[in-house]
Amino acid sequence: MVQRMSRMLLKTLRDAPADAETASHKLLVRAGYVRRTSAGVWTWLPLGKRVLENVTRIVREEMDAIGGQEVLLPALLPREPYEVTGRAGEYGDLLFQLKDRKGADYVLGPTHEEIFTQVVKDQATSYKDLPVILYQIQTKYRDEARPRSGVLRGREFQMKDAYSFDTTDEGLAESYRLHREAYIKIFTRLGFDYRVVSAVSGAMGGSASEEFLAPAAAGEDTFVDCPKCDYAANTEAVTTVVPAADAAAHGPLELLDTPDTPTIETLAAHLGVPASATLKNLLVKVDGEITGVGVPGDREVDLGKLAEHLAPAEVELVTAEDFEGRPDLVRGYVGPQNRAFPYIADPRVAPGTAWITGANESGKHARDVVCGRDFEVDRYLDVVVVEPGDPCPECGAGLEIGRAIEIGHIFQLGRKYADAFQLDVLGQNGKPVRVTMGSYGIGVSRAVAALAEQTADEQGLCWPREVAPADVHVVAAGKAAQTELALEIADRLHAAGVRVLVDDRAGVSPGVKFTDAELIGVPTILVAGRRAGEGVVELKDRRTGEREELTVDKALARLT
Ligand code: ATP
Ligand code: MG
Ligand code: MG
Ligand code: MG
Repeated sequence: MVQRMSRMLLKTLRDAPADAETASHKLLVRAGYVRRTSAGVWTWLPLGKRVLENVTRIVREEMDAIGGQEVLLPALLPREPYEVTGRAGEYGDLLFQLKDRKGADYVLGPTHEEIFTQVVKDQATSYKDLPVILYQIQTKYRDEARPRSGVLRGREFQMKDAYSFDTTDEGLAESYRLHREAYIKIFTRLGFDYRVVSAVSGAMGGSASEEFLAPAAAGEDTFVDCPKCDYAANTEAVTTVVPAADAAAHGPLELLDTPDTPTIETLAAHLGVPASATLKNLLVKVDGEITGVGVPGDREVDLGKLAEHLAPAEVELVTAEDFEGRPDLVRGYVGPQNRAFPYIADPRVAPGTAWITGANESGKHARDVVCGRDFEVDRYLDVVVVEPGDPCPECGAGLEIGRAIEIGHIFQLGRKYADAFQLDVLGQNGKPVRVTMGSYGIGVSRAVAALAEQTADEQGLCWPREVAPADVHVVAAGKAAQTELALEIADRLHAAGVRVLVDDRAGVSPGVKFTDAELIGVPTILVAGRRAGEGVVELKDRRTGEREELTVDKALARLT
């Protein structure tokens, strides 16, 4: 079907919504792609739905290419499995919760590790049934604290989540490798400028988790990037770890004696680090009690937390000795969706290495893995300082620091979920084997906004061809003959398999139509204008702005 603007539910807006801060938020609303239904909850209008579908199609094709099998699980889920793994508590306020008429507890799925584990436990009985990769493209729910960047951070959003099930560690490594390759293909095809960064610190070893980051000013992640070699890491992963032996040399922190909320500057001065420093999860003792405060990127909110902890109380840095004989002190789990995971060790991932944190994303202590029982502390977290120009750990060149949007995340989960649900299959020798898992997410709806962030210009959206809502935007400048020619060209393009949007609206000035075409951002604009009578049209490249007058036949030959 030729998409005729005269018949589409599409209204472009001159002004952006007052609360819109990011370019994608402003432009996607102004160009009529999405419409806010409530905070962090979005309606996808016809143009937006097309772009979302294009992203979905590419993701699906590449997931199918690595043997992924698409399924669809519910979004409305019993709460119980999330209690089994401790994630109900870990997610805290992020979890949308509800009760049915009988009072049974439900959640709206924020991610589906638990449920997939149960599905496979139900369906797979023998090692012959594995390995298997399952995925879905589905609506997820997270009650984000500040859903203020449009569809970049929704409270309802689309995610592709995949899960791999293997019987051996080598199998898991291979499933992880397959996903990594597929993600590289996906983000390349989508037209992203992106980096694959380590999401866990080197001390945890290797590639247990990596993120795909799209550099953009609107991003909420800070990452370090080496201009010389291929080292890149999320600053969440760049932590300075001080061996317990050196802890004593560090000494306690002085009381920060201020009646006011400390600013980053006062805090930095107090800690003796530059104000430009990135302060990461800082484990402190307040009145002798170990507690954690985090400053992951967002300064205002976490400063509030810092104020709570730092203003009136005695504050010291925690050392490994503080944990001795106190298995109750720190509990945590390396969760794929848990921001704090780099700081909490899963001993099965890296035996002997422990990362300790006090707080996770929801500000509550996570459960499940218990210090002293499940792992030993041999290091403690220091205040982490990463500054532009700091030496790259791999080649020594000066590091650059940038902002980015997390568009994908791949993770070797190991046996955490299989343990929680006793997911075993019969092995070759007839004995049960515990299954090992990976989980792999892509923010499908976020990808639309992230692409908009990276590609938009002053005039508006400017889509890479594969995701654009059409290949060609045909503009009929206004007169009847121009509209007739525009529709004829649109039909011929459509017959040749080109996706066409045609602006055949009556009573809309050519100027408004041109501005709208720039705003909507289809890669090629074809204008049936001044010289339509002679069979001459204008072709314009949306990105470069280059224009050329051509006969209709030449223009069609060019575009088909
Ligand atoms: P973030 O750090 O941005 O909060 P996350 O690490 O919590 O993301 P994951 O649990 O790793 O997210 O989920 C997999 C992917 O889902 C992310 O890489 C991201 O692209 C996407 N995603 C996560 N939260 C949202 C959201 N609120 N809105 C849109 N997409 C999201
Ligand atoms: Mg999150
Ligand atoms: Mg994240
Ligand atoms: Mg993540």
